[in-house]
Amino acid sequence: MRQFKVALPNSIEQASALQKSVDVPFIAGGTDLLARIKEYIDTPDLVVDLKRIEGLGEITSTGQGIRIGALVTMDDVATNRLVAEGFPALVETIGNAATPQIRNMATIGGNICQKPRCWYLRHEGYSCAKNGGSGCWAREGENEFHAIFGNQVCAVTHPSNMAPVLVAYGASIEIQSSESKSSDGTLEKRQVEAEQFFLTPEQDPTREVALKPGEIVTAVLLPAKNRTDQWSYAEAREKQSFDWAQASVTVLYQRGGRSGDHRVILGAVSPAPLRRADLEEIIGSRALDADCIQALQEKIGEGAHPLSQNGYKVPMLRGLMAKAIRNLNGEKKEG
Ligand SMILES: Cc1cc2nc3c(=O)[nH]c(=O)nc-3n(C[C@H](O)[C@H](O)[C@H](O)COP(=O)(O)OP(=O)(O)OC[C@H]3O[C@@H](n4cnc5c(N)ncnc54)[C@H](O)[C@@H]3O)c2cc1C
Ligand code: SF4
Repeated sequence: MRQFKVALPNSIEQASALQKSVDVPFIAGGTDLLARIKEYIDTPDLVVDLKRIEGLGEITSTGQGIRIGALVTMDDVATNRLVAEGFPALVETIGNAATPQIRNMATIGGNICQKPRCWYLRHEGYSCAKNGGSGCWAREGENEFHAIFGNQVCAVTHPSNMAPVLVAYGASIEIQSSESKSSDGTLEKRQVEAEQFFLTPEQDPTREVALKPGEIVTAVLLPAKNRTDQWSYAEAREKQSFDWAQASVTVLYQRGGRSGDHRVILGAVSPAPLRRADLEEIIGSRALDADCIQALQEKIGEGAHPLSQNGYKVPMLRGLMAKAIRNLNGEKKEG
């Protein structure tokens, strides 16, 4: 590993000011960034550690919902009573992720900002659309775990399995930077809806999230109005643990709700979580019976452009969709 210095700022303003370019990364739990540095994918001279900054490590009730500080670990999110009561699909998805050791280190901020797992991107010497070059090696190469939707420019899948659930719950990402101050000198906060936070390669192939240099994720905000007692999260992965999802389906269903009240979000099949209004329309317009499941299964592959090795994700999604509807309410009726 190449040697680097670590800065330990005490405030968001200091941390933000230190990050003058993307070559000076922030570090939280380090479970993604340190692996990238060890593999010489990232070679920073300086890393800005966020751990000493106060106020980023708590989960609080805000009246409108809950605020999860960016440095709260995945494990602490999953075991928090407020999260479990209001947003159980988030607890479920975290339980599926990585390993207990990683969940104990990894933070929610780092999870949503982690870099994709494309093996070309994570191998020294491959230049492609994502790292400032051109073209995509995966489209004609090894693409077993890559995207089947939105894969024309860059075929990565978003690696966070919290991301689709945050989009489903209508979460917002709170962001701060030393650049943006109010007249009394305090840092301003901007909020970006999770649905807009995760970028597609068409928006910018080099970025996965809507952060500008110097911007820090300070919290994830979950709105109480999106609590729902009918939810389901179904995920497939090659290995039980120490692995990423191959595909996931998140369903939030409002009993007696109208069109637009329900959410169906696909994960790990596109560069950003994929909201499917056409599938939401189906679950909102009929009883959730076998015919409904069949209609969803017929529709779910629409718009997919599988590559040479990942066509299996279409039938996988059909199976996960059926499972998600049968298991609504988090009841494991079908394994
Ligand atoms: C074997 C293995 C299996 C895994 N399986 C899964 C899985 O199934 N599902 C899943 O979702 N993840 C999985 N992961 C990834 C893991 O969840 C991430 O590595 C972790 O969430 C990153 O969090 P961190 O705090 O360690 O981030 P770090 O490594 O510290 O940072 C990650 C990135 O985010 C940036 N960053 C961190 N915090 C902030 C902030 N507050 N503001 C702005 N930028 C920030 C950093 O600059 C860096 O680029 C797995 C990892 C491993 C090693
Ligand atoms: S999928 Fe994206 S990151 Fe991977 S080779 Fe193609 S352009 Fe690069």
